[in-house]
Amino acid sequence: MTTNSCDYEVVVIGSGFGGGILACRTSKAWPGKVLVLERGKRYPMGSFPRTPHDMARNFWNLPDEDRARPKHVSEDELHGMFDIRNFRGMNAVVCAGYGGGSLIYANVFMRPPEAVFAEGWPKSITRSGLDPYYQIAKAVLGARPIPQNEDPRRRVVRADLFREVARKEGRDSQLCDINVFFGNDFDKPTPIGVQEKNRYGALQTSCVYCGECDVGCNTHSKNTVDLNYLFVAEHRYGARILTEHLAERIVPLNAAGQDDAGADGGNGYRVHYRDLNGKRETSASARRVVVSAGTLGSNELLLRCREVFKTLPGLNDNLGKRFSGNGDFLSFVVEGKQPADPNYGPVITQRTDFNLFSDFDRPRAFLLEDASYPAFAAWMVEGLRPSVSHFAAIGKAIKDGLRRLFSGASMDRIGFAMGDVLGGDMSYSSSVLLCMGLDNAGGVAGLNAAGYLEIDWPRKENMPLYDAILDAGERFRDQVGAKAFVPMPNWWWPFRQNITVHPLGGCRLADSPAEGVTSAKPEEMGQVFGYKGLYVADGSIVPTALGANPIATISALSERVAEGMTGVKPGADL
Ligand SMILES: Cc1cc2nc3c(=O)[nH]c(=O)nc-3n(C[C@H](O)[C@H](O)[C@H](O)COP(=O)(O)OP(=O)(O)OC[C@H]3O[C@@H](n4cnc5c(N)ncnc54)[C@H](O)[C@@H]3O)c2cc1C
Ligand code: SF4
Repeated sequence: MTTNSCDYEVVVIGSGFGGGILACRTSKAWPGKVLVLERGKRYPMGSFPRTPHDMARNFWNLPDEDRARPKHVSEDELHGMFDIRNFRGMNAVVCAGYGGGSLIYANVFMRPPEAVFAEGWPKSITRSGLDPYYQIAKAVLGARPIPQNEDPRRRVVRADLFREVARKEGRDSQLCDINVFFGNDFDKPTPIGVQEKNRYGALQTSCVYCGECDVGCNTHSKNTVDLNYLFVAEHRYGARILTEHLAERIVPLNAAGQDDAGADGGNGYRVHYRDLNGKRETSASARRVVVSAGTLGSNELLLRCREVFKTLPGLNDNLGKRFSGNGDFLSFVVEGKQPADPNYGPVITQRTDFNLFSDFDRPRAFLLEDASYPAFAAWMVEGLRPSVSHFAAIGKAIKDGLRRLFSGASMDRIGFAMGDVLGGDMSYSSSVLLCMGLDNAGGVAGLNAAGYLEIDWPRKENMPLYDAILDAGERFRDQVGAKAFVPMPNWWWPFRQNITVHPLGGCRLADSPAEGVTSAKPEEMGQVFGYKGLYVADGSIVPTALGANPIATISALSERVAEGMTGVKPGADL
């Protein structure tokens, strides 16, 4: 077989931000010749689980994989959205599904400041150089702040509260750009609940302010990747999409078209994958492979190819290094004197700056964002190991309540679940504080004895950041006259676990193989050093923490990878 007889021009593994963008751009360049493999399910409008029974099974687990997960999700075969991992010093939550993390993200689209790119990034990548790509991704993803007009239903009390606290603290608070559909006309929002097709042809509903963004938006009001980039890839350019198909192994081909671990990719690759329903193993060949399985998935797949299957032995020693949790830190301020109304409106609306955008102070640079309760109901309780906390009573109440939610006890609408936990008015006046900042990206990803992903996180080295976040939380408590400030229960001794929803790094972009895993040269952006035609495009190529929410940067870099691959300048018209 010659390279011309490959089954596809491109196989894309994963369908999150990186995978969605690469699927769209490469299928435009090679219509009908792109295959997308996604391990999770599709979620058409109205299909996100809400019943207690279905919520209890809304996790990802394949029992034949030996990895550390919360005990009660580690036995059954589950193909749900929440993929929760327990690593050393760090837990992580990512999503499985067609659209990847966009299905459960909080919609924030934010560019980090120039200063972030000044350290740890390849010289060839700057914020200003990436700006055109940010701009295109922003336009496609429809990022904008929540509309402000006289309609009282558009008022989000929580945003007002956080902005008032910021003002009292002398901090800058701004409404975030969020990828939420309020209609196609940014100046004149479509009335709440009214449906129309977006500019790419997918039907969406003008946001109904239900606050359930992090458990999947049943009205398709979130601008998830399956409603723009992937929608166009499939419906306009004929990309073949296989969901519930898990990519397991990538093998380079020799000139005779045979699997050959000694080959350099010049003749293409064979991707071996598994149909998770039929349990059938099969494969496809392609001239190029894009690994977009998310930071955890891409590091694991490549590490397994190097160390377990030995099919990509030339992957360099930087693989898995420079892992970052993006400084994520979750905490709660319980029972303030003013209303917070945390069950209403898109999950995140504003960000308060602590030395990231102004008065840059790298070890203590972070943002404080507001959140609604389903945001953590979905991932917190299942992600945390049982804990002994200094606020044991509150911790236990939160844990028991959320466990009930996920195991099928009383619940009418998920938005009120925390009311169940904290009790009527207490919930109304309590706030979730989501912080993220510039950790030192000093984590190391490797494989455990069974050959699955393990991560070591150097918590102690990042204490200046976490201490600054804890201080800010205590001051927030004082500003709103609240009874308690409670960091996530796992934070306290003896567990000292952090949790990230923004894992980054491990396949970092670099100017040379001595510094990273993927090339930052414009014409070969994202290509793995040592392997022709093997690319990575997702959070794993981001070289440092960003401080800001990462999808804007993941998307801009992915647009850049696609341009290098196809030679075509991107535009927002797709
Ligand atoms: C609750 C929550 C809220 C968030 N809110 C925000 C926010 O507001 N703003 C923001 O910027 N970021 C947010 N994030 C983070 C954001 O979702 C991720 O950074 C982003 O999705 C990462 O994109 P990606 O392309 O790297 O990979 P992902 O989006 O993780 O996509 C990877 C895909 O690959 C699939 N996959 C993995 N392994 C395989 C395999 N072997 N075979 C086939 N398929 C595979 C996965 O199922 C997944 O669909 C949030 C995350 C969470 C969990
Ligand atoms: S608030 Fe509700 S309707 Fe609006 S984007 Fe979030 S989940 Fe969808």
